[in-house]
Amino acid sequence: MITYITELITGNYQPPTETPASAKHPNRNKRIVQFILFGMVIDLLLILAELAAGVSPLENITRHPWLYGYIFLITVGAFAFFGAMVGSKEDQLEKLALRDPLTGLFNSRYLWARMGEQWATGKREKIDSSLILFDLDFFKRVNDRYGHPVGDELLKHIGKILQHAARRSDVVSRIGGEEFVFFLPNTSATAAAAIAERIRDTICRTPLITDKKHRISITISAGVASTNDYASTTPRTLYAEADKALYLAKKHGRNRVITSKPPEKDVHGNIETRA
Ligand code: GH3
Ligand code: MG
Ligand code: MG
Repeated sequence: MITYITELITGNYQPPTETPASAKHPNRNKRIVQFILFGMVIDLLLILAELAAGVSPLENITRHPWLYGYIFLITVGAFAFFGAMVGSKEDQLEKLALRDPLTGLFNSRYLWARMGEQWATGKREKIDSSLILFDLDFFKRVNDRYGHPVGDELLKHIGKILQHAARRSDVVSRIGGEEFVFFLPNTSATAAAAIAERIRDTICRTPLITDKKHRISITISAGVASTNDYASTTPRTLYAEADKALYLAKKHGRNRVITSKPPEKDVHGNIETRA
């Protein structure tokens, strides 16, 4: 709780990737706490003003405890209310600007911004960062067979699986039709490949059951790339590396994960390939 309040005051608060019930309105919660603290500062200033005017606030408080109590509650309540209004608006705007409207995952704008931040801090710390590019296999066939709305349902279903698999620090985003990206700060290539493989396995074992009781199974391919050298790589080059690995995953039969660092290794089928 103390860390949370310190992060709010210093402005270092990051909204979590996952959205548990308590974190659905990160800006609203943040503004309520900030505005309440602000209201309490105003109350304190009023007491100091009394002191400066030669009136003893302690004497007044003991004489009129209810009056002072009400003033305190009303200021704090009013500030909390305004904080909630401002924060809710910020949450709405953030959702529009940074989230994919279909799945609720982050969009590419947020992804590139977070990667940019990692490049800024990673340069100093030399820590591993990994990127996983996912692309659903033969997704077009789902649209063709069941229609676009069911295709959308399937995208939402996949979005939930991805979100569930993510850790707090991971950025899960949808960057195009049936393409998803995981950015994993502080994660090695081996760990990222294991995460990608676990997700691939979950997706092929978790069909979508539609309203009409259709059972739609789908598979996913993934390309993984990693770096700890933020001087000679950029977010774009890391992305291009992962994309190349994804292309190989498709070429070698889909439903598999390939890591890009030499030699390209097929985590699923253990085929080794080089670009
Ligand atoms: P591959 O295994 O090679 O990736 O084959 P694919 O069929 O998944 O890939 P392709 O690029 O041929 O088709 C992607 C399809 O995704 C085509 C497009 O209609 C569909 N699509 C893109 N955006 C959306 C969307 O928001 N909703 C739905 N339902 N379909 C979408
Ligand atoms: Mg695609
Ligand atoms: Mg596809």
